[in-house]
Amino acid sequence: MTLIADLVSLHQVDAQVRALRGRLESAQKYVAMQERQRSLLQGRLEEAKSQIRQYQATAANQEAESGTVKARIETLRVQLNTSTNPKQYAAVLSELKGLQTKRDEIDDGTLAQLQKVEELQAKLVEVEKLLAEREQVLTVGKAELDMCRTEVGSRLAELDLERGSAAARIPQRERDAFNRVADLYDGEAMAELVAIDARRREYVCGVCNMELPPEKYAALASNPNTAVTCTSCHRILFISEITTAAS
Ligand SMILES: [Zn+2]
Repeated sequence: MTLIADLVSLHQVDAQVRALRGRLESAQKYVAMQERQRSLLQGRLEEAKSQIRQYQATAANQEAESGTVKARIETLRVQLNTSTNPKQYAAVLSELKGLQTKRDEIDDGTLAQLQKVEELQAKLVEVEKLLAEREQVLTVGKAELDMCRTEVGSRLAELDLERGSAAARIPQRERDAFNRVADLYDGEAMAELVAIDARRREYVCGVCNMELPPEKYAALASNPNTAVTCTSCHRILFISEITTAAS
């Protein structure tokens, strides 16, 4: 095989390796993203639960306080009913009124806390629903990732071997050049040299479409053992009929 034919086979196997790696990486990224979203939701869930506990505790304290005030009010009512001294009666009545106002305020506060608990419980149900949905998506995503790992893993091992032997047929200098361009263009290291009008000697790079000097065609056609690159994008050029004929 010629150098160019060897480069083309390396290119083909390299593209497959990159595509498979890409598939695996995107499956991994997807699962990681779902996991991040799940932990955000878990955080929201824990936060809502802790707020509920706080409001419930405050409400319980206020209920107890209201009970204490109520007991005092009842004592005062008894005192009021048995009071014979007008001055004492007025004093008890005044304290009683004050305590009733205070108790109303405490009870309003308790209601407000319980209202917040209700709102948070509704929010909690919503977050739990979202979390359950996320868990489902994550389970499917993880199963797909596992499948992808198995499929891609074995195929990738084969392809890595193929890539190794394809690369071994190519001299170091050209192999380095190939790897540089392949990394630059994410695997698209080669471009077909296309004749737009062979009679007029008009040629372009099949990938970047820039016009190529006819010397490029001449060099490649006369010696398929030299790597010729596109003047514009620096991809390694090949001529399909020559490559096919020579291989
Ligand atoms: Zn080009």
